[in-house]
Amino acid sequence: MSLQHGRPYLAIPGPSVIPDRVLQAMHRPSPNIYEGELVDMMPALLADLKAVARTDGDVAIYIANGHGVWEAALTNTMSRGDKVLVLGNGHFCEGWADTARGLHIDVEIMDFGFERPIDLEAFRERLNADKTNEIKAVMTVHVDTSTSVKNDVAALRNVLDEAGHSALLMIDCIASLGCDPFEMDAWGVDLMVAACQKGLMTPAGVGFVFFNEKAATYRDAADLVTPYWDWRPRVNPEWFYLYFCGTAPTHHLYGLREALDMIAEEGLDAVLRRHRVLAQSVWAAIDHWGQGGPLEMNVPDPAHRSFAVTSVRAGSAKAAELRHWCEHKAGLTLGIGLGLAPPGTPEWHHAFRIGHMGSVSGQMILGALGTIEAGLSAVDIAHKPGGIVAAADVIAKNA
Ligand SMILES: *Cc1c(COP(=O)(O)O)cnc(C)c1O
Repeated sequence: MSLQHGRPYLAIPGPSVIPDRVLQAMHRPSPNIYEGELVDMMPALLADLKAVARTDGDVAIYIANGHGVWEAALTNTMSRGDKVLVLGNGHFCEGWADTARGLHIDVEIMDFGFERPIDLEAFRERLNADKTNEIKAVMTVHVDTSTSVKNDVAALRNVLDEAGHSALLMIDCIASLGCDPFEMDAWGVDLMVAACQKGLMTPAGVGFVFFNEKAATYRDAADLVTPYWDWRPRVNPEWFYLYFCGTAPTHHLYGLREALDMIAEEGLDAVLRRHRVLAQSVWAAIDHWGQGGPLEMNVPDPAHRSFAVTSVRAGSAKAAELRHWCEHKAGLTLGIGLGLAPPGTPEWHHAFRIGHMGSVSGQMILGALGTIEAGLSAVDIAHKPGGIVAAADVIAKNA
C-alpha cells in the first residue's frame, strides 16, 4: 500500500514549495501592462528585492531561469577573449563556467573538490601571480546546490583587496538568497545573480542580476552584450514595457510581490534564523543515523554547510531506493545526488539531497525526517534509530 495521498512535500533544492498565498496571488486575470496596478507596483518590488539582497545597487529582472541570468551577468560585463577565474566546488560553478566558455570567454577554473569551501590561500597565490590584472572577473557560488558547500564571500573580497586586484567579484546566490545570510554591499560583491524559484518561493521563470557601480562601468566596454540581455534599459526604463524588453511576466510579478510580502512580514533576519534552525535539525538527524551505518553529510564542517540544502552520501545505490520509497510511499520527494560522482557511474546513485529552502516549517522538516527514518528501515539502509528525536531536540531548544 501507499501513504502518499495528501499534501506532498517537494524537498528537492529547487523549485521549492510554493506557498498557497503566492499561488492565490497569481490566480487572476491578465492585468493591463500599460498603466495601473502592475505598473505602479514596480518601484516597491525593486526596493524589496534589493532589501533581500542587502544592496543599494541596481537590479535587472529577466524572464529567465538561473542559466539565463548567468548569461546576462557575463554578456553585460565581458568581451570575447576576456579572462575569468572560476572558483569551483560543485556542479553549478562548472555550469556557469560552461556558459562563459560558450560565450568565447577565456575560463580558468580552480577546483576545490566537492566537500570543502574555496581555499583562500590558493586563491591569494593565484591573484598575486596575476601581476597585469589579466583576470577580469572572479566567479563563484555562495552555495553550490549540488554539494551544499557554502563559501565565505566576505573572505573572497578581503583576499581581492589585500592583493590589490581589480577583478569584479561575481557571485551566484540562486540557491542561497533568502535562506543563507548574504550581504551584497557589506561584503563588497560587485555582481550577484539570483532566481525566483528557490528561497523566493515563486514558480521558476524570473531571474535577477544585481550589480553595483563598478560592474556598471564594465558594461561600457562589454562587446558581448545583445539587445535582449542588455541591462541598461531594464534598470532605467523610459516606460514599464522596457523593464522586461517586452511583455512583463505579469503573474510571476504578482507571485513575487506576495512572496516578498511574506518575507517582510516574518522579517528577513527571522527567515534566515528559521533556515538555520531547520538545517541544524536536519544535520542532527543525519549525524545520529550515521552512527549506525553509512549515511554521512557531504560537507564535514558545519560552518561550510548551507542552510538551504543538505547533500547526503548513503554509500550505495540504496540512496535511489530511499528516494523512490519516500516519494511513492509517503509523498516526500527528495533531491537526486548531483555532481558528487560522474554521471553514468554507479556512485552517481549513492547520494541524495534534502531541500529545506523557502516556505518550509518545523512540522514539514520533522515530517520529512520522520519519513526518511521510516524509509531507511523500509529499504534496509543501516542506521542508528532515533535521528528524528535528535532533530526534534534541536527544534525544541531553538524554536
Ligand atoms: C538552481 C541553481 C542554478 C540553476 O538555475 P536554473 O534556474 O535551473 O537555471 C544555478 N546555480 C545555483 C547555485 C542553483 O542552485
